[in-house]
Amino acid sequence: MTRSKQKKGPRREISKPVSAQPAHQSRRRWLLIGLGSVALIMTGLVAWHFRAPASSATTPARVDSARRDNLLLITLDTTRADRLGCYGYPRAKTRYLDRLAAEGVRFEYALSPAPITLPAHASIFTGLYPPGHGVRNNGNFYLGDAHQTLATVLQKQGYRTAAFVSSFILDRRYGLAHGFDLYDDAMQGAQPEVIALEAERRGDRTALQLSQWLERQAAGPPFFAWLHLYDAHEPYRPPMPFRAMFAGAEYDGEIAFDDAIVASILDKLEKTSLRDRTLIAVIGDHGESLGDHGEETHSMFVYESAIRVPFLLWRPGLVPGGVVVQEPVRAVDLAPTVLELLGVPALPRTDGRSLVALLKGTGSGSPPPAYAETYLPQFYMNWAPLRAIRDQRFKLIDAPKPELYDLKDDPREERNLYAEQPETARALRRGLEAITGGGEGAMSVGGLDREAMEKLAALGYVGAGAETAPVPAGQSRADPKDVIAVFNRLRRANTAVRDRRFAEALPVVRQVLAADPKNAFARVVMGSAYMGMEQYPQAIEWFRKYLELVPTSAYAHHWLAVSYLKMGDRDNALREAAAALVIDPKFTDARIIRGGVLAARGDYDAAITELRTAVQTDPAKPMLRLDLAKVLGEAGHTAEAETEYRALLALKPDDPTALIGLGVLQAKTGASEDAARSLRRALELDAGQDGARYDLGQVLEKQGRNDEARAEYRRLVEGQKTPPAVRDAARQRLTALDR
Ligand SMILES: [Zn+2]
Repeated sequence: MTRSKQKKGPRREISKPVSAQPAHQSRRRWLLIGLGSVALIMTGLVAWHFRAPASSATTPARVDSARRDNLLLITLDTTRADRLGCYGYPRAKTRYLDRLAAEGVRFEYALSPAPITLPAHASIFTGLYPPGHGVRNNGNFYLGDAHQTLATVLQKQGYRTAAFVSSFILDRRYGLAHGFDLYDDAMQGAQPEVIALEAERRGDRTALQLSQWLERQAAGPPFFAWLHLYDAHEPYRPPMPFRAMFAGAEYDGEIAFDDAIVASILDKLEKTSLRDRTLIAVIGDHGESLGDHGEETHSMFVYESAIRVPFLLWRPGLVPGGVVVQEPVRAVDLAPTVLELLGVPALPRTDGRSLVALLKGTGSGSPPPAYAETYLPQFYMNWAPLRAIRDQRFKLIDAPKPELYDLKDDPREERNLYAEQPETARALRRGLEAITGGGEGAMSVGGLDREAMEKLAALGYVGAGAETAPVPAGQSRADPKDVIAVFNRLRRANTAVRDRRFAEALPVVRQVLAADPKNAFARVVMGSAYMGMEQYPQAIEWFRKYLELVPTSAYAHHWLAVSYLKMGDRDNALREAAAALVIDPKFTDARIIRGGVLAARGDYDAAITELRTAVQTDPAKPMLRLDLAKVLGEAGHTAEAETEYRALLALKPDDPTALIGLGVLQAKTGASEDAARSLRRALELDAGQDGARYDLGQVLEKQGRNDEARAEYRRLVEGQKTPPAVRDAARQRLTALDR
């Protein structure tokens, strides 16, 4: 166990203008701890932030590429089918989704292959079950570039492709960005959350980006756009007026909010004259248990509440209207179906089938079985994973205590028939083994090849692998249904940590650990709680304990790096950030930490290499360029720094932080006129940038505009919120100017 070093007293690490410190810490996801934040963390100045026309179906044929339909895919996160009006929920306010169903095809039983966001989306895009694409959990799994997806196929056919996602869980690093010309995963205004890695963007903000993009698609080749709405995921906090309309039923309120967002997109398609040639597919990634079988949310179980999702297809003239398909279908069928409807070549390999023959509502009579799994119990809790298979009537859940349900007579899955109907169970089990190949299937965990393992070993980590802690002989992993109450308690404790109610969380987690010392999730919640309480030695201890169980967690190494940084232990921070990068080379946050530490040490060449790699990994993330620009400036590479600031301002023209950085750089090079203009513009955008105001005062002094400089200094001296150090500096300048 690495013990902490003595906490160092506050001191400035990098000598630079006051304004070189970052603004708007709170706007940034905590995971994106930028260089500036590194400086601030070290000086202890910043508080910790977790902070319809014709309706006859036509038979699609290969269509001339220029005349092909557009495709709009909307994925509704965490949306239970039975909470939409068109699926029979009387309290729903889902008029627009209901209208798409009424004018198109609605699939009564559509099944997700996993109650987990990333694996479920990987299946929607590849048409493969998780054992085929290898994405078995959120976090340290990713979709490999070798897989063909809806996006890669359509891009090859000349489609313009764009994605707009609302959760960090679908960040480009996880592989879904492949095939998209544009992948908008910016999480501005996100609520930072520690453990669940969930930086969320409100659906209306994501949809606004899609709307603006759609305006540019009126002419030219067809497009494929994907909109992901995360609102129905907990916490359920719909905005007004939905909050008031759905008081006490906030989950329904989030779905109503998403319906309003869908309405705005339909309206945009109408106004841009794109509506009549756009195929719309709406599907949920998974459901939400809402207390069924004792599960509060989703991820631990594969009962119908968590895997039955809404699935609609709409395109008058191409898709018939008012059809309800009763035969069970699967999320893996979506890609083959829409590709056939669009008349483009199919995916080379898929577990799904095209549903085009079903669109008239008659059914095939012999639907293939539907597979679902969750490995989250194993990866988070070291419990048994669950795998399920269902045919039209029966469902088998492969667990330490297996379950068999007759969905026709027992749709709520309350009467386990496993002991009574062994023949049915055996037949289903054979189908299950056929899908999974008799083993676990592919596990695509963040880049852990032999070389990566060697690098990890060199860093002091041995035994890294995709698997969790081995189970001692003679023991078996716990069945999730027997221990769901423990998970619920931990999940609530996790929420308490997120909301900074540490005193409430800690006793609960300690109690879980007393009964189950090897509970990985409990260990990581402990680490996060201590990090939130700024007790870094304890945080480090618990993150290390977590890594003993989950050695492939890039995040745990990253959190260790952050904790060491907070204690001023740069060597260990560098080492832990490097360990995170060995596991996941696309983990730009870890590169940012390394860049920051290296720059603070004066090792600018190494810092610039790290930060350039970060920018190349995520070229569309403006904040990465900001960090690179700052270090280039500090290193004296003025022209290159200016190039980066300008590239950043091309992405975000009204970013005060970038304007300040540019202004400071211009001041340094003697371009006082330009510097004053940049700084003034930044202050117009954000008048509370006291450091920038001080810098502006200095630039004005240099130009001999002393009266204007005085006015800026006076504003700082009189300002209610001016930091004492800035106020003192401004007062001194006033005195000096008056001498
Ligand atoms: Zn999800």
